[in-house]
Amino acid sequence: MDNIKLAALLFPDVTLTPEDLEAKYPPRALPEGARVTRFAPSPTGYLHIGGLFGALTDVLVARASNGVSFLRIEDTDKKREIEDGVSAILKGFEAFGVEFTEGVTGFGTETGDYGPYTQSQRVFIYHAVAKRLVEEGKAYPCFCTAEALNALRERQEADGALIRGYFGKYARCRDLSMEEIEANLAAGKPWVLRFRSAGSEDKRITFEDLIRGKIEMPENIIDEVLLKSDGIPTYHFAHVCDDHFMRTTHVIRGEEWLSSVPKHIAMFKACGYKVPKYVHTAQVMKLDDETGDKRKLSKRKDPEAAVSYFVEKGFPKEAVIEYLLTLLNSNFEDWRRANPGVEAMDFPFNLKKMGASGCLFDLLKLTDVSKNVISHMKASDIYDCVAAWAKEYAPEFYAIFTADPAFSTAILNIDREVPKPRKDIAKWDEVQNYLSYFFTEPEADPALLPERVSPEDAKAILACCCANYEPGEEKDAWFARMKGWCPDLGFCPEVKEYKKNPAAYKGHVGDVSSVVRLAVTGRTNTPDLCTIMQLLGKEKVAERLNRFAAKL
Ligand code: GLU
Repeated sequence: MDNIKLAALLFPDVTLTPEDLEAKYPPRALPEGARVTRFAPSPTGYLHIGGLFGALTDVLVARASNGVSFLRIEDTDKKREIEDGVSAILKGFEAFGVEFTEGVTGFGTETGDYGPYTQSQRVFIYHAVAKRLVEEGKAYPCFCTAEALNALRERQEADGALIRGYFGKYARCRDLSMEEIEANLAAGKPWVLRFRSAGSEDKRITFEDLIRGKIEMPENIIDEVLLKSDGIPTYHFAHVCDDHFMRTTHVIRGEEWLSSVPKHIAMFKACGYKVPKYVHTAQVMKLDDETGDKRKLSKRKDPEAAVSYFVEKGFPKEAVIEYLLTLLNSNFEDWRRANPGVEAMDFPFNLKKMGASGCLFDLLKLTDVSKNVISHMKASDIYDCVAAWAKEYAPEFYAIFTADPAFSTAILNIDREVPKPRKDIAKWDEVQNYLSYFFTEPEADPALLPERVSPEDAKAILACCCANYEPGEEKDAWFARMKGWCPDLGFCPEVKEYKKNPAAYKGHVGDVSSVVRLAVTGRTNTPDLCTIMQLLGKEKVAERLNRFAAKL
Protein backbone atom coordinates (compact mmCIF):
# COMPACT_ATOMS: atom_id res chain seq x y z
CA MET A 1 0.00 0.00 0.00
CA ASP A 2 1.28 3.45 -0.89
CA ASN A 3 0.48 5.20 2.39
CA ILE A 4 1.76 8.58 1.26
CA LYS A 5 -0.63 8.46 -1.67
CA LEU A 6 -3.48 7.31 0.58
CA ALA A 7 -2.83 10.19 3.03
CA ALA A 8 -2.90 12.70 0.17
CA LEU A 9 -6.12 11.17 -1.07
CA LEU A 10 -7.82 11.40 2.33
CA PHE A 11 -6.46 14.79 3.35
CA PRO A 12 -5.83 16.67 0.10
CA ASP A 13 -6.00 20.09 1.74
CA VAL A 14 -3.85 19.40 4.77
CA THR A 15 -0.39 20.94 4.33
CA LEU A 16 0.39 21.56 7.98
CA THR A 17 2.68 18.93 9.48
CA PRO A 18 3.23 17.62 13.00
CA GLU A 19 6.66 19.29 12.83
CA ASP A 20 4.97 22.66 12.24
CA LEU A 21 2.83 22.00 15.30
CA GLU A 22 5.86 21.05 17.39
CA ALA A 23 7.36 24.41 16.49
CA LYS A 24 4.12 26.29 17.14
CA TYR A 25 3.58 24.65 20.54
CA PRO A 26 7.07 24.08 21.97
CA PRO A 27 7.63 22.40 25.33
CA ARG A 28 6.80 24.91 28.06
CA ALA A 29 9.61 26.80 29.73
CA LEU A 30 8.66 26.02 33.31
CA PRO A 31 10.70 25.36 36.45
CA GLU A 32 11.73 21.79 37.22
CA GLY A 33 8.83 19.83 38.68
CA ALA A 34 6.14 22.28 37.51
CA ARG A 35 2.93 20.51 36.61
CA VAL A 36 0.67 21.35 33.72
CA THR A 37 -2.92 20.32 34.31
CA ARG A 38 -6.13 20.86 32.46
CA PHE A 39 -9.82 20.81 33.16
CA ALA A 40 -11.68 19.69 30.06
CA PRO A 41 -15.45 19.84 30.40
CA SER A 42 -17.98 19.21 27.69
CA PRO A 43 -20.36 22.17 27.50
CA THR A 44 -23.46 20.36 28.63
CA GLY A 45 -25.03 23.40 30.26
CA TYR A 46 -24.17 23.08 33.90
CA LEU A 47 -21.25 22.54 36.19
CA HIS A 48 -21.51 19.36 38.25
CA ILE A 49 -20.14 19.39 41.77
CA GLY A 50 -17.75 16.65 40.57
CA GLY A 51 -16.53 19.14 37.97
CA LEU A 52 -15.77 21.68 40.65
CA PHE A 53 -13.86 18.94 42.50
CA GLY A 54 -11.85 18.15 39.41
CA ALA A 55 -11.15 21.76 38.53
CA LEU A 56 -10.09 22.55 42.07
CA THR A 57 -7.66 19.64 41.92
CA ASP A 58 -6.23 20.85 38.61
CA VAL A 59 -5.79 24.41 39.80
CA LEU A 60 -4.26 23.49 43.15
CA VAL A 61 -1.88 20.86 41.75
CA ALA A 62 -0.60 23.42 39.24
CA ARG A 63 -0.34 26.20 41.83
CA ALA A 64 1.48 24.03 44.35
CA SER A 65 4.20 23.30 41.76
CA ASN A 66 4.39 26.75 40.12
CA GLY A 67 2.90 25.18 37.04
CA VAL A 68 0.01 25.94 34.72
CA SER A 69 -3.65 24.93 34.74
CA PHE A 70 -5.88 25.57 31.77
CA LEU A 71 -9.52 25.26 30.81
CA ARG A 72 -10.23 23.44 27.56
CA ILE A 73 -13.73 23.11 26.20
CA GLU A 74 -14.42 19.69 24.69
CA ASP A 75 -17.23 20.42 22.28
CA THR A 76 -16.75 17.58 19.82
CA ASP A 77 -20.02 15.92 20.75
CA LYS A 78 -22.48 18.33 19.20
CA LYS A 79 -25.43 16.12 20.12
CA ARG A 80 -24.85 16.53 23.86
CA GLU A 81 -24.00 20.19 23.74
CA ILE A 82 -26.59 22.69 24.86
CA GLU A 83 -26.78 26.32 24.01
CA ASP A 84 -24.70 28.56 26.17
CA GLY A 85 -23.17 25.57 27.94
CA VAL A 86 -19.80 27.26 28.25
CA SER A 87 -21.03 30.28 30.13
CA ALA A 88 -22.76 28.11 32.75
CA ILE A 89 -19.41 26.45 33.40
CA LEU A 90 -17.50 29.72 33.53
CA LYS A 91 -20.10 31.25 35.83
CA GLY A 92 -19.72 28.30 38.16
CA PHE A 93 -15.95 28.77 38.39
CA GLU A 94 -16.27 32.50 38.84
CA ALA A 95 -18.73 32.07 41.69
CA PHE A 96 -16.25 29.91 43.57
CA GLY A 97 -13.10 31.82 42.74
CA VAL A 98 -11.54 28.96 40.75
CA GLU A 99 -9.11 30.56 38.29
CA PHE A 100 -7.12 28.80 35.62
CA THR A 101 -3.82 30.14 34.38
CA GLU A 102 -4.88 29.93 30.74
CA GLY A 103 -7.59 28.71 28.41
CA VAL A 104 -11.16 29.71 27.69
CA THR A 105 -12.22 32.83 29.61
CA GLY A 106 -15.57 33.68 28.04
CA PHE A 107 -17.69 33.30 24.96
CA GLY A 108 -15.12 33.46 22.16
CA THR A 109 -12.32 34.68 24.42
CA GLU A 110 -9.25 32.92 25.78
CA THR A 111 -5.72 33.52 27.01
CA GLY A 112 -2.52 31.53 26.52
CA ASP A 113 -0.11 30.45 23.80
CA TYR A 114 -1.31 26.88 23.44
CA GLY A 115 -4.74 27.55 21.99
CA PRO A 116 -7.25 27.48 20.54
CA TYR A 117 -8.62 26.04 23.78
CA THR A 118 -11.91 24.91 22.26
CA GLN A 119 -11.73 21.57 20.48
CA SER A 120 -14.01 22.49 17.60
CA GLN A 121 -11.41 25.11 16.65
CA ARG A 122 -8.54 22.62 16.73
CA VAL A 123 -9.56 20.49 13.77
CA PHE A 124 -6.47 21.63 11.81
CA ILE A 125 -4.32 20.01 14.51
CA TYR A 126 -6.18 16.68 14.55
CA HIS A 127 -6.06 16.50 10.75
CA ALA A 128 -2.34 17.18 10.59
CA VAL A 129 -1.67 14.37 13.06
CA ALA A 130 -4.19 12.05 11.39
CA LYS A 131 -2.59 12.57 7.99
CA ARG A 132 0.80 11.63 9.40
CA LEU A 133 -0.63 8.47 10.98
CA VAL A 134 -2.00 7.45 7.59
CA GLU A 135 1.34 8.17 5.94
CA GLU A 136 2.97 5.86 8.47
CA GLY A 137 0.38 3.11 7.98
CA LYS A 138 -0.98 3.60 11.50
CA ALA A 139 -4.47 4.69 10.49
CA TYR A 140 -6.84 3.77 7.69
CA PRO A 141 -10.23 4.78 6.33
CA CYS A 142 -13.19 2.60 7.24
CA PHE A 143 -16.34 2.63 5.11
CA CYS A 144 -18.45 0.32 7.26
CA THR A 145 -22.05 1.46 7.52
CA ALA A 146 -24.12 1.32 10.71
CA GLU A 147 -25.70 -1.90 9.36
CA ALA A 148 -22.30 -3.45 8.72
CA LEU A 149 -21.22 -2.61 12.28
CA ASN A 150 -24.43 -4.15 13.64
CA ALA A 151 -23.81 -7.29 11.65
CA LEU A 152 -20.27 -7.36 13.06
CA ARG A 153 -21.66 -7.16 16.61
CA GLU A 154 -24.04 -10.03 15.93
CA ARG A 155 -21.25 -12.13 14.48
CA GLN A 156 -19.09 -11.54 17.53
CA GLU A 157 -21.98 -12.52 19.75
CA ALA A 158 -22.55 -15.70 17.78
CA ASP A 159 -18.81 -16.48 17.92
CA GLY A 160 -18.82 -15.84 21.68
CA ALA A 161 -15.88 -13.50 21.14
CA LEU A 162 -14.46 -12.35 24.48
CA ILE A 163 -13.40 -9.01 23.11
CA ARG A 164 -15.95 -7.01 21.19
CA GLY A 165 -15.24 -4.26 18.70
CA TYR A 166 -13.47 -3.51 15.45
CA PHE A 167 -10.26 -5.52 15.43
CA GLY A 168 -8.28 -8.30 13.76
CA LYS A 169 -10.31 -10.52 11.49
CA TYR A 170 -13.47 -8.51 12.20
CA ALA A 171 -11.89 -5.30 10.93
CA ARG A 172 -13.22 -5.46 7.38
CA CYS A 173 -11.64 -2.25 6.14
CA ARG A 174 -8.22 -2.79 7.71
CA ASP A 175 -6.71 -4.21 4.55
CA LEU A 176 -8.67 -2.66 1.72
CA SER A 177 -6.63 -2.20 -1.44
CA MET A 178 -5.92 1.23 -2.85
CA GLU A 179 -8.32 0.46 -5.72
CA GLU A 180 -11.16 -0.38 -3.31
CA ILE A 181 -10.52 2.76 -1.28
CA GLU A 182 -10.38 4.92 -4.40
CA ALA A 183 -13.64 3.43 -5.66
CA ASN A 184 -15.38 4.01 -2.32
CA LEU A 185 -14.18 7.59 -2.20
CA ALA A 186 -15.18 8.18 -5.80
CA ALA A 187 -18.63 6.79 -4.99
CA GLY A 188 -18.87 9.39 -2.18
CA LYS A 189 -19.13 6.79 0.57
CA PRO A 190 -18.73 8.31 4.03
CA TRP A 191 -15.68 7.12 5.97
CA VAL A 192 -14.22 7.33 9.42
CA LEU A 193 -10.51 7.17 10.16
CA ARG A 194 -9.49 4.22 12.30
CA PHE A 195 -6.40 3.59 14.35
CA ARG A 196 -4.47 0.54 13.15
CA SER A 197 -3.81 -1.11 16.49
CA ALA A 198 -0.46 -2.86 16.83
CA GLY A 199 -1.53 -4.52 20.08
CA SER A 200 -1.92 -8.20 20.63
CA GLU A 201 -4.50 -10.12 22.61
CA ASP A 202 -2.04 -11.95 24.82
CA LYS A 203 -0.04 -8.93 25.95
CA ARG A 204 -0.67 -6.72 28.96
CA ILE A 205 0.47 -3.22 29.73
CA THR A 206 1.25 -1.63 33.06
CA PHE A 207 1.08 2.02 33.95
CA GLU A 208 1.18 4.12 37.08
CA ASP A 209 -1.88 6.02 38.21
CA LEU A 210 -0.80 8.61 40.77
CA ILE A 211 -3.73 7.83 43.06
CA ARG A 212 -4.26 4.16 42.36
CA GLY A 213 -0.66 3.02 41.96
CA LYS A 214 0.53 0.46 39.43
CA ILE A 215 -2.24 -0.82 37.16
CA GLU A 216 -2.07 -3.72 34.75
CA MET A 217 -4.52 -4.14 31.89
CA PRO A 218 -4.76 -6.04 28.61
CA GLU A 219 -3.12 -4.22 25.73
CA ASN A 220 -5.48 -2.38 23.38
CA ILE A 221 -6.26 -4.34 20.22
CA ILE A 222 -9.23 -2.31 18.97
CA ASP A 223 -8.97 -0.22 15.82
CA GLU A 224 -10.61 2.71 17.53
CA VAL A 225 -12.17 5.54 15.52
CA LEU A 226 -9.90 8.61 15.45
CA LEU A 227 -11.96 10.88 13.21
CA LYS A 228 -15.69 10.59 12.73
CA SER A 229 -17.23 10.83 9.28
CA ASP A 230 -17.60 14.60 9.65
CA GLY A 231 -13.86 14.90 10.33
CA ILE A 232 -14.41 15.66 14.02
CA PRO A 233 -12.16 13.66 16.36
CA THR A 234 -13.33 11.21 18.99
CA TYR A 235 -12.57 11.97 22.64
CA HIS A 236 -9.65 9.51 22.54
CA PHE A 237 -7.84 11.08 19.61
CA ALA A 238 -8.51 14.65 20.72
CA HIS A 239 -7.15 13.81 24.18
CA VAL A 240 -3.91 12.51 22.68
CA CYS A 241 -3.37 15.45 20.30
CA ASP A 242 -4.46 18.13 22.75
CA ASP A 243 -2.62 16.95 25.80
CA HIS A 244 0.52 16.53 23.71
CA PHE A 245 0.45 19.92 22.00
CA MET A 246 -0.82 21.73 25.07
CA ARG A 247 2.05 20.09 26.95
CA THR A 248 -0.07 18.67 29.76
CA THR A 249 2.07 16.80 32.28
CA HIS A 250 -0.74 15.43 34.48
CA VAL A 251 -4.06 14.26 33.08
CA ILE A 252 -6.42 14.44 36.05
CA ARG A 253 -9.84 13.12 35.10
CA GLY A 254 -12.76 11.03 36.31
CA GLU A 255 -12.30 7.32 37.00
CA GLU A 256 -14.71 6.48 34.18
CA TRP A 257 -11.78 7.02 31.81
CA LEU A 258 -9.50 4.52 33.54
CA SER A 259 -10.49 1.64 31.27
CA SER A 260 -9.55 3.70 28.19
CA VAL A 261 -5.94 4.21 29.24
CA PRO A 262 -4.56 1.27 27.18
CA LYS A 263 -6.11 2.87 24.09
CA HIS A 264 -4.64 6.22 24.92
CA ILE A 265 -1.18 4.86 25.64
CA ALA A 266 -1.23 3.00 22.31
CA MET A 267 -2.17 6.20 20.49
CA PHE A 268 0.44 8.34 22.27
CA LYS A 269 3.07 5.78 21.31
CA ALA A 270 1.91 5.53 17.70
CA CYS A 271 2.20 9.32 17.40
CA GLY A 272 5.66 9.24 18.99
CA TYR A 273 4.53 11.34 21.98
CA LYS A 274 5.47 11.05 25.62
CA VAL A 275 2.62 9.57 27.65
CA PRO A 276 1.44 12.02 30.35
CA LYS A 277 1.01 11.03 33.97
CA TYR A 278 -2.49 9.79 34.70
CA VAL A 279 -4.60 10.55 37.74
CA HIS A 280 -8.08 9.05 37.84
CA THR A 281 -10.15 10.65 40.55
CA ALA A 282 -12.99 9.07 42.49
CA GLN A 283 -16.62 9.93 41.87
CA VAL A 284 -18.54 12.22 44.16
CA MET A 285 -21.11 10.11 46.00
CA LYS A 286 -23.89 10.64 48.49
CA LEU A 287 -25.91 8.45 50.82
CA ASP A 288 -29.31 7.92 49.29
CA ASP A 289 -31.97 9.42 51.58
CA GLU A 290 -34.27 6.45 51.15
CA THR A 291 -32.05 3.41 50.86
CA GLY A 292 -29.03 4.69 52.80
CA ASP A 293 -26.80 3.30 50.04
CA LYS A 294 -23.82 5.12 48.60
CA ARG A 295 -24.57 6.30 45.07
CA LYS A 296 -23.39 8.78 42.47
CA LEU A 297 -24.78 12.30 42.78
CA SER A 298 -27.28 12.61 39.98
CA LYS A 299 -28.44 15.80 38.38
CA ARG A 300 -31.97 14.44 38.09
CA LYS A 301 -32.41 13.40 41.72
CA ASP A 302 -30.11 15.73 43.61
CA PRO A 303 -30.35 19.49 43.21
CA GLU A 304 -26.95 19.80 44.92
CA ALA A 305 -25.32 17.98 41.99
CA ALA A 306 -25.28 21.29 40.10
CA VAL A 307 -22.86 23.87 41.43
CA SER A 308 -25.46 26.60 40.80
CA TYR A 309 -27.44 25.16 43.74
CA PHE A 310 -24.84 26.47 46.20
CA VAL A 311 -24.88 29.88 44.59
CA GLU A 312 -28.67 30.06 44.69
CA LYS A 313 -28.83 29.00 48.33
CA GLY A 314 -26.10 31.47 49.19
CA PHE A 315 -23.41 29.24 50.61
CA PRO A 316 -20.30 31.42 50.84
CA LYS A 317 -17.75 30.31 48.28
CA GLU A 318 -15.08 29.97 50.98
CA ALA A 319 -17.25 27.43 52.80
CA VAL A 320 -17.87 25.32 49.71
CA ILE A 321 -14.19 25.32 48.76
CA GLU A 322 -13.17 24.60 52.33
CA TYR A 323 -15.54 21.64 52.51
CA LEU A 324 -14.52 20.26 49.12
CA LEU A 325 -10.89 20.38 50.20
CA THR A 326 -11.62 18.33 53.30
CA LEU A 327 -13.07 15.71 50.97
CA LEU A 328 -10.33 15.97 48.38
CA ASN A 329 -7.21 15.75 50.50
CA SER A 330 -6.97 13.79 53.72
CA ASN A 331 -4.42 16.16 55.20
CA PHE A 332 -6.34 19.38 54.53
CA GLU A 333 -7.87 19.58 58.00
CA ASP A 334 -4.48 19.26 59.73
CA TRP A 335 -3.10 21.94 57.44
CA ARG A 336 -6.05 24.18 58.18
CA ARG A 337 -5.54 23.86 61.94
CA ALA A 338 -1.90 24.80 61.52
CA ASN A 339 -2.66 27.66 59.08
CA PRO A 340 -5.95 29.20 60.18
CA GLY A 341 -5.75 32.50 58.32
CA VAL A 342 -4.27 31.27 55.03
CA GLU A 343 -6.34 31.20 51.81
CA ALA A 344 -7.61 27.74 50.93
CA MET A 345 -6.22 28.18 47.42
CA ASP A 346 -2.71 28.24 48.90
CA PHE A 347 -3.10 24.75 50.33
CA PRO A 348 -0.14 22.61 49.17
CA PHE A 349 -2.28 20.01 47.44
CA ASN A 350 -0.85 16.51 47.41
CA LEU A 351 -2.20 14.08 44.82
CA LYS A 352 -1.03 11.15 46.93
CA LYS A 353 -3.48 12.19 49.64
CA MET A 354 -6.49 11.76 47.38
CA GLY A 355 -8.72 8.78 48.00
CA ALA A 356 -9.23 6.14 45.31
CA SER A 357 -12.78 5.30 46.29
CA GLY A 358 -15.80 7.58 45.94
CA CYS A 359 -15.92 10.39 48.46
CA LEU A 360 -19.16 11.16 50.26
CA PHE A 361 -20.66 14.57 49.77
CA ASP A 362 -22.71 15.44 52.83
CA LEU A 363 -24.84 18.59 52.79
CA LEU A 364 -25.09 18.58 56.58
CA LYS A 365 -21.33 18.63 56.95
CA LEU A 366 -21.10 21.43 54.44
CA THR A 367 -23.68 23.29 56.51
CA ASP A 368 -21.52 22.92 59.62
CA VAL A 369 -18.41 24.08 57.79
CA SER A 370 -20.35 27.01 56.43
CA LYS A 371 -21.69 28.05 59.86
CA ASN A 372 -18.17 28.02 61.14
CA VAL A 373 -16.82 30.04 58.22
CA ILE A 374 -19.60 32.63 58.54
CA SER A 375 -19.15 32.88 62.31
CA HIS A 376 -15.62 34.15 61.69
CA MET A 377 -16.54 36.67 59.01
CA LYS A 378 -16.74 40.39 59.70
CA ALA A 379 -20.24 41.91 59.79
CA SER A 380 -19.39 44.28 56.94
CA ASP A 381 -18.27 41.36 54.75
CA ILE A 382 -21.44 39.47 55.56
CA TYR A 383 -23.43 42.57 54.71
CA ASP A 384 -21.78 42.71 51.28
CA CYS A 385 -22.35 39.01 50.60
CA VAL A 386 -25.98 39.08 51.72
CA ALA A 387 -26.68 42.22 49.69
CA ALA A 388 -25.13 40.68 46.56
CA TRP A 389 -27.02 37.43 47.05
CA ALA A 390 -30.37 39.09 47.85
CA LYS A 391 -30.12 41.43 44.86
CA GLU A 392 -30.20 38.37 42.62
CA TYR A 393 -32.36 35.91 44.55
CA ALA A 394 -34.54 37.86 47.01
CA PRO A 395 -35.17 41.35 45.58
CA GLU A 396 -37.82 42.31 48.14
CA PHE A 397 -35.55 41.50 51.03
CA TYR A 398 -32.72 43.30 49.22
CA ALA A 399 -34.68 46.55 49.31
CA ILE A 400 -35.37 46.24 53.03
CA PHE A 401 -31.91 45.01 53.94
CA THR A 402 -29.99 47.68 52.05
CA ALA A 403 -32.26 50.62 52.99
CA ASP A 404 -30.02 51.39 55.99
CA PRO A 405 -26.65 49.66 55.56
CA ALA A 406 -25.30 50.85 58.92
CA PHE A 407 -28.32 49.37 60.74
CA SER A 408 -28.11 46.06 58.86
CA THR A 409 -24.37 45.81 59.54
CA ALA A 410 -24.92 46.59 63.21
CA ILE A 411 -27.53 43.86 63.64
CA LEU A 412 -25.24 41.37 61.89
CA ASN A 413 -22.52 42.43 64.30
CA ILE A 414 -24.41 41.33 67.44
CA ASP A 415 -22.31 38.68 69.26
CA ARG A 416 -19.74 38.73 66.48
CA GLU A 417 -15.97 39.18 66.88
CA VAL A 418 -16.12 37.59 70.33
CA PRO A 419 -14.09 34.56 71.45
CA LYS A 420 -16.97 32.16 70.77
CA PRO A 421 -19.11 33.64 67.99
CA ARG A 422 -22.58 32.21 67.39
CA LYS A 423 -22.97 29.76 64.53
CA ASP A 424 -26.50 30.59 63.50
CA ILE A 425 -26.20 31.23 59.77
CA ALA A 426 -25.16 28.60 57.23
CA LYS A 427 -26.19 30.35 54.03
CA TRP A 428 -27.49 33.68 52.86
CA ASP A 429 -31.01 32.47 52.15
CA GLU A 430 -31.44 32.05 55.92
CA VAL A 431 -30.63 35.65 56.76
CA GLN A 432 -34.03 37.12 55.98
CA ASN A 433 -35.72 34.84 58.46
CA TYR A 434 -32.86 35.12 60.96
CA LEU A 435 -33.21 38.91 61.07
CA SER A 436 -36.93 39.15 60.40
CA TYR A 437 -37.87 40.74 63.76
CA PHE A 438 -35.68 43.74 62.99
CA PHE A 439 -37.65 44.54 59.88
CA THR A 440 -41.20 43.37 60.60
CA GLU A 441 -43.35 43.23 63.73
CA PRO A 442 -42.94 39.80 65.32
CA GLU A 443 -46.00 37.73 66.12
CA ALA A 444 -45.10 36.51 69.60
CA ASP A 445 -46.98 33.37 70.55
CA PRO A 446 -48.17 33.24 74.21
CA ALA A 447 -47.76 29.47 74.10
CA LEU A 448 -43.99 30.06 74.02
CA LEU A 449 -43.92 31.70 77.46
CA PRO A 450 -41.67 29.86 79.92
CA GLU A 451 -43.68 27.13 81.66
CA ARG A 452 -43.30 28.72 85.07
CA VAL A 453 -44.64 32.09 83.93
CA SER A 454 -48.40 32.65 83.95
CA PRO A 455 -49.96 35.22 81.59
CA GLU A 456 -50.59 37.53 84.56
CA ASP A 457 -46.96 37.36 85.67
CA ALA A 458 -45.87 37.93 82.08
CA LYS A 459 -48.03 41.03 81.93
CA ALA A 460 -46.45 42.32 85.12
CA ILE A 461 -42.96 41.68 83.73
CA LEU A 462 -43.78 43.50 80.48
CA ALA A 463 -45.26 46.47 82.31
CA CYS A 464 -42.23 46.67 84.59
CA CYS A 465 -39.86 46.55 81.66
CA CYS A 466 -41.83 49.16 79.78
CA ALA A 467 -41.64 51.55 82.70
CA ASN A 468 -38.02 50.92 83.65
CA TYR A 469 -36.11 50.12 80.47
CA GLU A 470 -33.05 52.30 79.78
CA PRO A 471 -31.73 51.71 76.25
CA GLY A 472 -28.41 53.49 76.86
CA GLU A 473 -27.16 50.78 79.23
CA GLU A 474 -24.51 48.21 78.49
CA LYS A 475 -25.18 44.52 78.85
CA ASP A 476 -24.10 44.11 82.49
CA ALA A 477 -25.94 47.17 83.76
CA TRP A 478 -29.04 46.10 81.85
CA PHE A 479 -28.99 42.63 83.35
CA ALA A 480 -28.43 44.08 86.84
CA ARG A 481 -31.42 46.32 86.25
CA MET A 482 -33.59 43.32 85.36
CA LYS A 483 -32.41 41.55 88.50
CA GLY A 484 -33.53 44.60 90.43
CA TRP A 485 -37.11 44.09 89.20
CA CYS A 486 -37.22 40.49 90.36
CA PRO A 487 -38.10 40.79 94.07
CA ASP A 488 -41.20 42.90 93.40
CA LEU A 489 -42.26 40.51 90.63
CA GLY A 490 -41.82 37.47 92.89
CA PHE A 491 -38.89 36.10 90.86
CA CYS A 492 -35.44 35.22 92.16
CA PRO A 493 -32.60 37.47 90.88
CA GLU A 494 -30.04 34.64 91.06
CA VAL A 495 -30.50 31.34 89.23
CA LYS A 496 -28.37 29.45 91.79
CA GLU A 497 -30.39 30.84 94.63
CA TYR A 498 -33.60 29.84 92.91
CA LYS A 499 -32.40 26.26 92.44
CA LYS A 500 -31.78 25.92 96.17
CA ASN A 501 -35.31 26.93 97.04
CA PRO A 502 -37.62 26.89 94.02
CA ALA A 503 -40.81 26.84 96.08
CA ALA A 504 -40.05 30.34 97.35
CA TYR A 505 -40.25 31.99 93.91
CA LYS A 506 -42.35 32.10 90.76
CA GLY A 507 -39.18 31.66 88.72
CA HIS A 508 -35.81 33.37 88.21
CA VAL A 509 -34.30 36.26 86.29
CA GLY A 510 -33.87 34.06 83.22
CA ASP A 511 -37.62 33.69 82.98
CA VAL A 512 -38.02 37.44 83.21
CA SER A 513 -35.64 38.03 80.33
CA SER A 514 -37.29 35.24 78.32
CA VAL A 515 -40.61 37.03 78.52
CA VAL A 516 -39.03 40.26 77.32
CA ARG A 517 -37.18 38.43 74.56
CA LEU A 518 -40.36 36.78 73.37
CA ALA A 519 -42.26 40.07 73.29
CA VAL A 520 -39.48 41.96 71.49
CA THR A 521 -38.41 39.31 68.97
CA GLY A 522 -41.14 36.67 68.89
CA ARG A 523 -38.45 34.08 69.64
CA THR A 524 -37.11 32.06 72.52
CA ASN A 525 -33.51 32.12 71.30
CA THR A 526 -31.71 35.14 69.87
CA PRO A 527 -28.32 36.82 70.05
CA ASP A 528 -27.74 39.32 72.85
CA LEU A 529 -31.11 40.83 73.83
CA CYS A 530 -29.66 44.02 75.26
CA THR A 531 -28.09 44.98 71.93
CA ILE A 532 -31.18 43.95 70.00
CA MET A 533 -33.28 46.29 72.13
CA GLN A 534 -30.77 49.10 71.78
CA LEU A 535 -30.82 48.80 68.02
CA LEU A 536 -34.61 48.70 67.88
CA GLY A 537 -34.86 51.80 70.11
CA LYS A 538 -36.95 52.58 73.15
CA GLU A 539 -40.10 53.41 71.26
CA LYS A 540 -40.29 50.26 69.20
CA VAL A 541 -39.41 48.13 72.21
CA ALA A 542 -42.21 49.72 74.25
CA GLU A 543 -44.65 49.17 71.40
CA ARG A 544 -43.78 45.50 71.20
CA LEU A 545 -43.95 44.99 74.97
CA ASN A 546 -47.41 46.54 75.06
CA ARG A 547 -48.58 44.68 72.01
CA PHE A 548 -47.66 41.34 73.49
CA ALA A 549 -49.16 42.24 76.87
CA ALA A 550 -52.45 43.02 75.13
CA LYS A 551 -52.46 39.50 73.68
CA LEU A 552 -52.17 37.79 77.05
N1 GLU B 1 -14.67 16.02 28.17
C1 GLU B 1 -14.38 14.91 29.02
C2 GLU B 1 -15.51 14.75 30.01
O1 GLU B 1 -16.24 15.71 30.23
C3 GLU B 1 -13.10 15.18 29.73
C4 GLU B 1 -12.39 14.03 30.28
C5 GLU B 1 -10.95 14.44 30.52
O2 GLU B 1 -10.71 15.22 31.43
O3 GLU B 1 -10.09 14.01 29.78
O4 GLU B 1 -15.69 13.71 30.56
